Amino acid sequence: MSYLLPDLPYAPDALEPAIDARTMEIHHGKHHAGYVAKLNAAVEGLDVPDNPWQLCKDLDNLPADKRGAVRNNGGGHANHSLFWSILAPKGSGGEPSGELAAAIDSDLGGMDSFQKQFSDAGATRFGSGWAWLGVKDGKLAVCSTPNQDNPVMPFDGCDGCTPILGLDVWEHAYYLNYQNRRPDYINAFFDIINWNRVSELYAEAK
Ligand code: MN
Repeated sequence: MSYLLPDLPYAPDALEPAIDARTMEIHHGKHHAGYVAKLNAAVEGLDVPDNPWQLCKDLDNLPADKRGAVRNNGGGHANHSLFWSILAPKGSGGEPSGELAAAIDSDLGGMDSFQKQFSDAGATRFGSGWAWLGVKDGKLAVCSTPNQDNPVMPFDGCDGCTPILGLDVWEHAYYLNYQNRRPDYINAFFDIINWNRVSELYAEAK
C-alpha cells in the first residue's frame, strides 16, 4: 500500500496572517510530501496498517532496520495530517464544545491555564518537535515530543495520550514569517484552531 499526502482543507493563504501562504505551500507541498515519499519507500513490501497513527503505535512490530525511517517519516505523516485538520481560518473554527470546554476547566484549570501550559510545552521544546493536547485515561493532558515523535509511539518520554490537537514547532513551520520569534507564532496559533474538529476528536478519543 501507499500512504497519500492529504489535500489542505483550505487555501494556502486562508490562515493569514497567523501563518503565511508561502510557509503553508512549502510546509505541505515539500516537507509533508517528503515525509510521505520517504515513508512509502521505507515500508515498501511490508504489511503495514492503513492508518499512520496505528503505524506509529505498532512501530515495534516493524523490522529493526525500518523503525528509524518509519519513526521519523511515519510520525511526520501522522503529525502533519492531524495538524492541517485542526487549523481553520480565523473566526471559522468555533469554540470548544460543551463537553470539551468542561474538561478543559476540570482537567487543565480552564482555558487560560490550558493556553499557558500548551504555550510553555511548545516554547520550551528545545530544537524541533511538537506540543500536544491529548486524552489519557479519560482526562486531558498537555505534553511535547521531539522531532517527529508523537505521544502514541512506544518510547520513554511519549506519555501515551491520544492527541486531539498538535502544534508543529519546527522552524520550518514559522521561520519565514516569524524568524526566531517562536512565542509569537504560538500566540497566533490560538487564533486559527479548528475547535469544531478538536471537539470531534475529543469525543472519539474519550
Ligand atoms: Mn512540519
